[in-house]
Amino acid sequence: MGRTRGRTIGRTRGRTRGEDGHPFGMLWSRPVPRETCYKCWRPMSCCLCPAKPPMETRTRIVLLMHPKEFRHQKCTTGRLTCLNLANSEIIPGVIFGHDARFLSLIDDPGNYPVLLYPGDGAMSLHGGGLGASTVGQRRLVVFLIDATWHCARKIVRENPSLLRLPRLTIQPAAPSRFLIKRQPAPWCLSTIEAVHELLLALEQGGLDLYPDRNRLLDAFHAMQDFQLMQIANAPRWAHHVVRGPRVARAVPGAGTPR
Ligand SMILES: [Zn+2]
Repeated sequence: MGRTRGRTIGRTRGRTRGEDGHPFGMLWSRPVPRETCYKCWRPMSCCLCPAKPPMETRTRIVLLMHPKEFRHQKCTTGRLTCLNLANSEIIPGVIFGHDARFLSLIDDPGNYPVLLYPGDGAMSLHGGGLGASTVGQRRLVVFLIDATWHCARKIVRENPSLLRLPRLTIQPAAPSRFLIKRQPAPWCLSTIEAVHELLLALEQGGLDLYPDRNRLLDAFHAMQDFQLMQIANAPRWAHHVVRGPRVARAVPGAGTPR
């Protein structure tokens, strides 16, 4: 089988033969087209788009997604998060100081923008650091950096406008549920797990409602089950191709990045 978008008929190990057995058969073989879902960027046969309409939240969730994650379309839990939340969006990039969408969100007087990122002075949502009276009638906009720790630190370093925002932290109720991705520390979560914990904390703090608490975790488990099945079904020679990501990925939720 070929590893391109379609499957190539007649390709055998070390040599390519067409249906007629010709050694250059690949030149005449035709890839079998595979339909792609352009929302989750998976083959239609294993589309992970939610059957239910995206969940409504009062808070706007904005993922500042590093281009490496953005290109990694199929495996990112950030994209899965946005498929499940109506009031969410992805802004790809590394430098956001001149990004029109980013600026419109932080400059809108109707918004109360915050950054979910640990550090000195960060408000703990669980400790009541951000109350409903502080936000008032404004819309809470939470920015999350969707990147590896290494890339997240770079984004923060190169975006002073991000560090000027009030910062939030959360204390995850559970460690990461990722089986195929190693996290650098127990408090490091995938993007979708971090947003789940964030919504729980916002509800506790009276800042939002989270009626369907299984929504994001169910989507996460479905994605992980699919990835585990792919690994289990991959032929032995392809195990070097189908594998977990090379680096641990984390969303800054709590703790301090190393
Ligand atoms: Zn889909």
